[in-house]
Amino acid sequence: MASTRARGKTAPARKTKAARTKYVYFFGKGKAEGHRGLRDLLGGKGANLAEMTNAGLPVPPGFTISTDACRRFYEEGRRVSSAIDAEMVEQLRRLERATGAAFGSSTHPLLVSVRSGAKFSMPGMMDTILNLGLNDVTVETLKARTSNGRFACDSYRRFIQMFGNVVLDVPKDAFEHELEAVRAARGVATDPELDEAALRDVIARYKKVVRARSRRTFPQDPLEQLRLSRDAVFRSWQNPRAREYRRIYEIPDDIGTAVNVQLMVFGNTGDRSGTGVGFTRNPATGAREFYGEFLINAQGEDVVAGIRTPKQIAELETVMPKAYRRLRQITSRLERHYRDVQDFEFTIQDEELYMLQTRNGKRTGYAAVIIATDMVAERLVRPKDAVLMVEPEALSQLLAPIFDPKEWQRLPIATRGLPASPGAASGQVVFTADEAVEWTRQGKAVLLVRKETVPDDIHGMFVAQGILTATGGMTSHAAVVGRQMGKPSVVGAGALRIDERAKTVRAGDATLREGDWLSFDGLTGEVKTGRVATRPSEILQVTSGELKPEKSAIYQRFNQLLSWSDKVRTLGIRANADQPDQAAMAYRFGARGIGLCRTEHMFFGEGRIPIVQRMILADNEADRRAALAELLPMQREDFRGVFEAMHGSPVTIRTIDPPLHEFLPKREDLMVEIARMEATGQSGRALEAKKTLLARVEELHEFNPMLGHRGVRLGISYPEITEMQARAIMEAACQVVKAGGRAVPEIMIPLVGDVRELRDQKAVVVRVAEAVMKEYKVKVKYLVGTMIEVPRGALTADEIAKEADFFSFGTNDLTQLVYGFSRDDIGKFLGAYQDKRILDRDPFASLDVTGVGQLVEIGTVKGRSAKPKLKVGVCGEHGGDPSSIAFFARVGLDYVSCSPFRVPVARLAAAQAALKQRALD
Ligand code: ADP
Ligand code: MG
Ligand code: MG
Repeated sequence: MASTRARGKTAPARKTKAARTKYVYFFGKGKAEGHRGLRDLLGGKGANLAEMTNAGLPVPPGFTISTDACRRFYEEGRRVSSAIDAEMVEQLRRLERATGAAFGSSTHPLLVSVRSGAKFSMPGMMDTILNLGLNDVTVETLKARTSNGRFACDSYRRFIQMFGNVVLDVPKDAFEHELEAVRAARGVATDPELDEAALRDVIARYKKVVRARSRRTFPQDPLEQLRLSRDAVFRSWQNPRAREYRRIYEIPDDIGTAVNVQLMVFGNTGDRSGTGVGFTRNPATGAREFYGEFLINAQGEDVVAGIRTPKQIAELETVMPKAYRRLRQITSRLERHYRDVQDFEFTIQDEELYMLQTRNGKRTGYAAVIIATDMVAERLVRPKDAVLMVEPEALSQLLAPIFDPKEWQRLPIATRGLPASPGAASGQVVFTADEAVEWTRQGKAVLLVRKETVPDDIHGMFVAQGILTATGGMTSHAAVVGRQMGKPSVVGAGALRIDERAKTVRAGDATLREGDWLSFDGLTGEVKTGRVATRPSEILQVTSGELKPEKSAIYQRFNQLLSWSDKVRTLGIRANADQPDQAAMAYRFGARGIGLCRTEHMFFGEGRIPIVQRMILADNEADRRAALAELLPMQREDFRGVFEAMHGSPVTIRTIDPPLHEFLPKREDLMVEIARMEATGQSGRALEAKKTLLARVEELHEFNPMLGHRGVRLGISYPEITEMQARAIMEAACQVVKAGGRAVPEIMIPLVGDVRELRDQKAVVVRVAEAVMKEYKVKVKYLVGTMIEVPRGALTADEIAKEADFFSFGTNDLTQLVYGFSRDDIGKFLGAYQDKRILDRDPFASLDVTGVGQLVEIGTVKGRSAKPKLKVGVCGEHGGDPSSIAFFARVGLDYVSCSPFRVPVARLAAAQAALKQRALD
């Protein structure tokens, strides 16, 4: 077990020499050997089945084979040891005694389901097998016991189908094909219309399919059926789609899945039976309403598979009032018990309700915020629990764009579907997941349009702007996965006519081809043809002042949650912003400070580049100073704007960092232009100027600019640049202070690896700062510090701290230099590294805690050993990444700084880090 990531903590080893490890856990008759605390061992499904059993809820009895057994399965070359198998058989006998039924019995046959269930739910990743235990003999017993031959045969044909697919790898189509043939022969449209004789025909055909495709006869011995199914579940842990899902959701590969074996209850015995799924609150909007779907006379996956269109759960009240009331009562109780929205599965057999699953429901970011704040208002949870209930990433969903209502209303509605996951999506239509990936790679925005999605589509769903399906309900695969990814999704748009082969889709009157534009609104379910511009989310409208906070319910909840977060977090949150408008936005999102203001971005501002170039081209100090003098007032204005936008919160401004050639034209372009001028007979000053420029560009050329003449090295070569920048910063600060405002400049020298570099530049800054303050006759509190971004800087942090008022870890460059990966070139091999599991994540997006993190820790500890009150922050991309933030909080940094749009995410992530740490201490 090599996993060290936070999500992947496996349970501590339970093995002791004396006690035999237990692998199989029974539940039934109001008592279970497991409970909800054992998710590592029993998986989410198994743990909750145990918990519900203990709570006295109507759960069919059964047993859970633990994730330990799954790990052993892989350790032992993909086989279950005889000891574990014997333990399973022991528990099977116990189940037989508890139910009065027996495997293969010709009087009372035991029928079970075999269900996978890992610690983290992986919807649709591993298929469930129902009705196991049926064979040519027991199917007749089942018929006799229920006086329902149709039901018995329907159950048997489903079992062969599921077992054939999951265990024997027979493609689903092969069975579907036979079913269709029988439907056609009988002249019926749907499965419920098939009578017993028709189903016997289906069974015979299915057995033939199995024999032809798998080269074995369908196994008749129930115990053999069970063993094969169990092993198939274990094997499915490593199937490609499960692996892909784990990669996307960063679920460790080594935690394994449990197997649940459970007595069957039947939703397909007739019109007094049914099956369904639901939520205690609306998972798309968060509204406090009972929410779900069901089908009469159906079994298992029929509801989620999107084959038959299910009914709204409210209708259950009229059809089976007693079962409905019981369901309401049980699910409300479950919500109170788990203190979170429950996503449940149930089956009604002859009006008797059974609970088959419950778990904390997945929800959209929007719903997450509504639910968390509602539950505090209902006194179901405390504010700090609410803070832990919302994934930080969910908040970035709330900032996602919406359509411009005017533009949207101009277009007619082509069709409608179910609003499965909110957000505005506009893109070019593609019909397969692979195409979605390919087109996205080419820089196109795509909408993935499918009849229904399956787990194999996950990579395409991940990259698409939105997902649109023709069949399926609000709990279909597309809906569940779309919500979880925060991807706008509309499902079950039944009027869409998709021809996947011809690559066309009819929506209303229009026929669209691959590549045509389509748009939909995931909050209303409306679909329109054409491209529609999007506009900022409601929250953005409030933060930008277009909309009054009182007018936006979601903004108020968002704000409430974040203010609770601010009360518990220990990390400060700053933003990386270069311009006054960005700084203002960051302030409105709650940043209290700028962690990184990159001065060179200002050089690209309007009309500035020629002056910058003149400064670079100068071959003597006097000319250089003249150009710098022109830049000074411009920089001063920018800085003043940033100070004002921050209302007295500290502003860290970095002196020039990139190599100078970045401000000059490309060598090749210049050469082409000079050749063209010469060819067209131009001469004189313009041509000479180009030639001078080219000469300077060639002079500045470097083999490895990232390791070249940049950062502090520039300031050391050209102290007048540092001088000008220090002056612009201090003059701006003095002006703000003189005007009655507050400004707290923190001047930051980049790329320092040796204390003497910093000492050199600090002398320049201090000299200028003191002079400026004397000129302006005001005192401004200012700091001079450095970025720690080269490994030597971190390793000698104790020396550097003597000269620095603060450190800021530049984790982008630090990652680059610690791994030796160029940030701009990692794309070429990152994919291969991730496929081979050499890297789990992009180290530029999520901090490599083991390596780079060590330097952050060393730098912090050493720095503070020399200067205990040293202020330490981080300003790389990692400052906005929740798992990196958790690490920075652990190391004891003072703040993280991230892009303005990530500030809400960072505030929440920092609060969660603090709460989790408090729980550990
Ligand atoms: P998933 O993880 O894909 O939801 P489940 O193991 O929950 O798979 O099974 C899917 C469905 O199969 C359940 O929602 C339920 O309707 C049906 N099912 C599973 N076990 C049983 C059972 N013992 N009796 C009746 N139906 C069952
Ligand atoms: Mg499944
Ligand atoms: Mg389920």
